[in-house]
Amino acid sequence: MPWNSPATKETVGFLQQSIKRERLAHAYLLIGPATAGTMALSKEFSQAIFCKSNDPPCHECRHCVNIDKELHPDLLTIQPGSTGFIGIDRIRRLLGDITSEQIKELEKRDEDIPPRYFAITSPLEADRKIIIIHGVETMLKETRDILLKILEEPPASVIFILTTEDESISNSTLASRCQILRVKPISFDEVKSSLIKNGIEPDLASHLSKITGGHIQKALNFAENASLLNDMYSDYMYMPNILTQPISARIKLAEEAAQNYRGNKRGVLASMDTWMVFWRDAIISSKEINLNQDISVKSELLTKEDLKKLSIDLVEAVGAIRAIEKAQLALQNNGNARLIIENLYMNLPLKLE
Ligand SMILES: [Zn+2]
Repeated sequence: MPWNSPATKETVGFLQQSIKRERLAHAYLLIGPATAGTMALSKEFSQAIFCKSNDPPCHECRHCVNIDKELHPDLLTIQPGSTGFIGIDRIRRLLGDITSEQIKELEKRDEDIPPRYFAITSPLEADRKIIIIHGVETMLKETRDILLKILEEPPASVIFILTTEDESISNSTLASRCQILRVKPISFDEVKSSLIKNGIEPDLASHLSKITGGHIQKALNFAENASLLNDMYSDYMYMPNILTQPISARIKLAEEAAQNYRGNKRGVLASMDTWMVFWRDAIISSKEINLNQDISVKSELLTKEDLKKLSIDLVEAVGAIRAIEKAQLALQNNGNARLIIENLYMNLPLKLE
């Protein structure tokens, strides 16, 4: 079966060959922006490794289907938790036990607890195990050292697939233990056709490829879950709305957002990502920018004319983007949520009507 992942022919061809010739490495490091579809690719690569059909992945057998449903007992996926990091205990647990206090701590942080000894016990259904770790750049040094130790003496039946958006990782010791694969971003049209291949209607595929900035995994999540897409729309519209609010109202909104953050860290951080899309749209609609080519706004919620009416200038837009980035980073470092969000809201341009 052809691969559904949006990766280029060369990338897919390389992975296919290594399976066919039984020359699989113990560890792969996929380097590329999230928009290149590294998440989808690592999943499909796992299917191709486990699948026993002549032209894997068949997308029909038990292995393929269970990986799709995220139910395969021999595949473990680890990704940054609500703090934005991959905590040390999650990697420690792959090798052995951690204390029950540490488990409680993980549960409190709302992080998935990997199965105990996953890296060193035998596979249950496949002939090996796969551990996918997304965003290895978010591991602090101590955490990375533990992973490094595992990769130095790799368990015979485990394949690691690591992904990162950070090119500088390619010079690390971690990378030297891996087969490196650079995954190139793909065009909107390719994202669109990949979404259509995944069973999404052409109009929706075109819309989703735009509003996610070509992020295939996000687009697939939106297609599967309409309420996620609606949340994204309301996050986007929150931004032009807050600009018209006086400082007193913003302080109140910040308080609400900080309360929401306590129960839904990931959600609040994702909202901030969506605000970035708004500001990018504001920049390309700004009067100061005269683009030769016609770049369309991503959201399809506000037109360029709507955005122009807000009369946001470039300095304001760039300042807002910096303020949002700063707030995201401070939240990920466990700063005081209320102060951080308040500070952010006060630093957004005032567009009182
Ligand atoms: Zn299969």
